[in-house]
Amino acid sequence: MRVVFLGPPGAGKGTQARELARERSVAHIATGDMLREAIANGTALGRQAKTYYDRGELVPDALVVGMLGERLQVPDAAHGFILDGFPRTIAQAEALERLLKDLGRELDRVVFFEVSEPELLRRLTARRAVEQRADDTDETVKNRLHVYATQTEPLLEYYRNRSRLVAVPGEGSIDAIRGAVRQALGR
Ligand code: AMP
Repeated sequence: MRVVFLGPPGAGKGTQARELARERSVAHIATGDMLREAIANGTALGRQAKTYYDRGELVPDALVVGMLGERLQVPDAAHGFILDGFPRTIAQAEALERLLKDLGRELDRVVFFEVSEPELLRRLTARRAVEQRADDTDETVKNRLHVYATQTEPLLEYYRNRSRLVAVPGEGSIDAIRGAVRQALGR
């Protein structure tokens, strides 16, 4: 299983990805989590990423692609992976294709989590109280949704053109969404 979970911030990709990855014994690769860890540890990558991260902007492609390339070489990813939060730009999608090609692999599916904008705003605002992420302030939440619409949404067409895209409703109970994801993956 080599899949991408695609959708706006707050779509619930992380919850589903974590659970499914554990169940199928594949790697859950969340670039947002990796960046938060790098920032918390004050690594060179973390220091470079922090200003972008704090503003709710995308960290430059070269940094994220380098980080992902290394992560894909870790043995746990050889059995398969769920990418959560990557790719977020067309350039990242193209880089991913090259990285996988070098490993003699390709993507099976891209699962798109569909959630309406008012619902996203509601969730991201509610999450603020629970997770206290540095990038969950009003201003950054708005910016992240804008960044998604302008830079990430074009990936829908990119993957539709490559016949990889399957959409699932990202609203409803966690159980219903779980069922839709499994159906989308065809098993
Ligand atoms: P997330 O946890 O996926 O919502 O990501 C949180 C933040 O990390 C984003 O707002 C970006 O600043 C950064 N980030 C995560 N993944 C990527 C990516 N693939 N490309 C660029 N920036 C990213």
